[in-house]
Amino acid sequence: MTDALPDPLSFTARALAARGALVETHGAEAVALLPPALGKALHAPEELLVATHPREGAAAVACGIGSPLLERLSAEARRSTPWALVAPAADAPKVSHATALAGRLVVRNGLAEVVDAAVGTAVYARVTMAWSVEADDRYEGLFAVELGPDRGEPAGLGSLLDVTAREDDAPPARADAAALAAVLAPLAGRAQRALAAASRDALESIERRHARDHQRMTEYFAGLAAEVGAGRRKVDPAVAATRRAALVAERDARLRDLVVRYTPKVTAAPAAMVFATLPVVRVRLRVRRRKLDRELRVVLPATAQALDLLACDGCDEGTARPALCDDRLHLVCERCAPQAQGRFACVACARPRR
Ligand SMILES: [Zn+2]
Ligand SMILES: [Zn+2]
Repeated sequence: MTDALPDPLSFTARALAARGALVETHGAEAVALLPPALGKALHAPEELLVATHPREGAAAVACGIGSPLLERLSAEARRSTPWALVAPAADAPKVSHATALAGRLVVRNGLAEVVDAAVGTAVYARVTMAWSVEADDRYEGLFAVELGPDRGEPAGLGSLLDVTAREDDAPPARADAAALAAVLAPLAGRAQRALAAASRDALESIERRHARDHQRMTEYFAGLAAEVGAGRRKVDPAVAATRRAALVAERDARLRDLVVRYTPKVTAAPAAMVFATLPVVRVRLRVRRRKLDRELRVVLPATAQALDLLACDGCDEGTARPALCDDRLHLVCERCAPQAQGRFACVACARPRR
């Protein structure tokens, strides 16, 4: 989704049309007749000629990157989160395929056996998040998080949920609000980790500049302190000490300013959501650990070659190789329980019960 940005002129034309304007594009320019309210909101005349980079002396209003018109339209577009519910055309997976994959599921410290399998449908979601990091500089971008039924995470859907990567238009579908909300349950946890990955470079470069400026500042003041009393004229030791103390205070104040300047403000919010209803095969398994056992459901969606990852009960991250905790058979991922041998401290058990 990041590389398929529309050019500013066609974005402007579509954004104006979506708000009721009549728009006609001619090459590098577009003429728009705006409804009076829209003209007022955009501080623009009702008959508006726009161009990405108008020639000098031309009557057109600029809509290129950084222009007030484009800024207003994109701010407006960001105020709401567009979403779509689609049903991509895809055949249901084979039950035998799903059962075979489920039979190979690795439970690191327990046994799993297939009980039965059934064909059905499930809602999947792809949430595109817009993130920004602001400190002395501003960074921004998009990342996407994909979510499956039962808090799972699709592992083999490729670009099926990415409607911007598809040529064909999937037909709209229906699903009840509860199903849509349920699929978004693990969003916060997964988005937070994806955000950390997406913003890592920005945060590192802010930290590097902070470290560099901190060092320069420290060296500069160390130089000034070394000069106190170093000249030919003799300086009273008490006066020299006062001057040095003043330098230290000044340096510390400047270093505190740097901390403020380089403290990043990180934000992320959903920019667009696609929900897709897909044919799936759900396989029920019985898993055992010592004397306890529980039921587990795994899901294979249409077109996928791998089962959805299971949600870790400790951190909500998807895992293909869960371990089971001793007391309540929570599913725990490799990060939460790197060693599954013997009794491990379960993150999910340690949390206060909801
Ligand atoms: Zn985990
Ligand atoms: Zn547990």
